[in-house]
Amino acid sequence: MFADLHLHTRFSDGTYSPEELAGHAQRHGLSVLALTDHDSVEGCGAMTTACARLGLEFIAGVELTAEHDGAELHLLGYFLDTQHPRLLRELSRFQGVRQDRIREMVARLNHLRVPLEAEAVFALANCRSPGRPHVARALVQAGLCRTLDEAFDRFLKKHRPAWVPKFKMSATQAIALIHEAGGLAVMAHPGLNHNDRLIPHMAEAGLDGLECYHSRHSLAASEHYLGLARKHVLLVTGGSDCHGMNRGRPLIGSVHLPYKYVVILKERVAQRKSRSAACTPNASRPDTPTHPLLPSATKPPPPSCAVA
Ligand code: AMP
Ligand code: ZN
Ligand code: FE
Ligand code: FE
Repeated sequence: MFADLHLHTRFSDGTYSPEELAGHAQRHGLSVLALTDHDSVEGCGAMTTACARLGLEFIAGVELTAEHDGAELHLLGYFLDTQHPRLLRELSRFQGVRQDRIREMVARLNHLRVPLEAEAVFALANCRSPGRPHVARALVQAGLCRTLDEAFDRFLKKHRPAWVPKFKMSATQAIALIHEAGGLAVMAHPGLNHNDRLIPHMAEAGLDGLECYHSRHSLAASEHYLGLARKHVLLVTGGSDCHGMNRGRPLIGSVHLPYKYVVILKERVAQRKSRSAACTPNASRPDTPTHPLLPSATKPPPPSCAVA
């Protein structure tokens, strides 16, 4: 059994619907999928249904763009409670920032006398978490650029005239948010971000895993990150980062993560859940102090609570 734990749909900047994605995954011999749309869990409901229909196992996830010490990194959250109120509130805030970014990119295009309307981008994106690929597609659809590459090369690439930097949240806060929503936090495609120096800091901040296998990691890169995962006691994950037909060929099927890694992830989530239940004041330990500042001299909490 194999998994792909890094996938995007049209609920962020992918082109496949959940149903199409699940179909392609099944044809590639995958039996476990995680949806990791950018700043959104909007597609998780439809993906749950699509996977159930095909007998595939589904893991609800997200991909957050974060920074630490001036360096960008992407954090994947897995096994999330997709109804978690604070997670939904924060995602909604990031989605608002994304929509403002689209308006700003369109304003810059208009300033360059490219007559694109923000509403055309939102209509095409038809999701809460739009990004640059939607602006590129809208430019092509309006006949203002011939190809997506032309749209990026002329306007949208970093430091091109319509480029607007992307909001990044603090990586330590992103890890805490994922944990609060019941999830595991994993550093995505470390081989693309070239900031291995962050890994020890992230491990200290509670990072659970490292995406050692990725469609754009060479064999040597995967081995390098397997070594770092061992060194920093991080779990191992992998995924294709398929965005559908956005750029080149679809990447689904390029990573087949053996199921044994999924089993370990599930064990870690179960451990977390049982620890946090044990650490909930007055839940199973009526003699635990109910206020964090109250002296705990009567009975210290079990050591496992310190790392829950
Ligand atoms: P954003 O997160 O809004 O900054 O957009 C990043 C997305 O743009 C990623 O999914 C990239 O794959 C995509 N992208 C970057 N360059 C290009 C390009 N030349 N053609 C198509 N997509 C691109
Ligand atoms: Zn993307
Ligand atoms: Fe990413
Ligand atoms: Fe991704």
